[in-house]
Amino acid sequence: MSDLKVAENIVASVHYTGTLPDTGEVFDTSEGRDPLKFLVGHRQMIPGFEEELMGAVVGERREFTLSPERAYGEPIEELIAEFPKSEFAQLEKSGVTIEVGMQLVAQTIQGPAPFFVKAVSDEFITADFNHALAGKSLTFSVEVVELQEASEEELAHGHAHGPGGVEH
Ligand code: ZN
Repeated sequence: MSDLKVAENIVASVHYTGTLPDTGEVFDTSEGRDPLKFLVGHRQMIPGFEEELMGAVVGERREFTLSPERAYGEPIEELIAEFPKSEFAQLEKSGVTIEVGMQLVAQTIQGPAPFFVKAVSDEFITADFNHALAGKSLTFSVEVVELQEASEEELAHGHAHGPGGVEH
């Protein structure tokens, strides 16, 4: 038995379900998968998620609702951009009709960047690169499954290793 609690530099394994408080819609859950494993205090998780779990012991269950500032932040206007529709000609030629709400991926110099189609006109497509959960309050139900001291390697990498964490 251990007397570990959720704290900085502890590897926490948790089962969680995230719902939108307005609708009750589940946007993410670890049910049916390995528990999520993360190194506490290394920005692996959204800030409020860790804060609300601090001090929890194995077997403890906590439920909390995070405001957008403590979750994925407010949507940023600069992350919304218009592109000429002609840039998507290739996609449309392959039979894809671009519609509002669709998620697409732009190839940028920093790598692939997913975005949502916010608006479509005859000439332009408005792309929203904000996180899909930006601007939303999120409710989490979390159960602490396991707590371990982090290994030297995990501390050096800044993340948890193994199933449910980073496997490499
Ligand atoms: Zn690593």
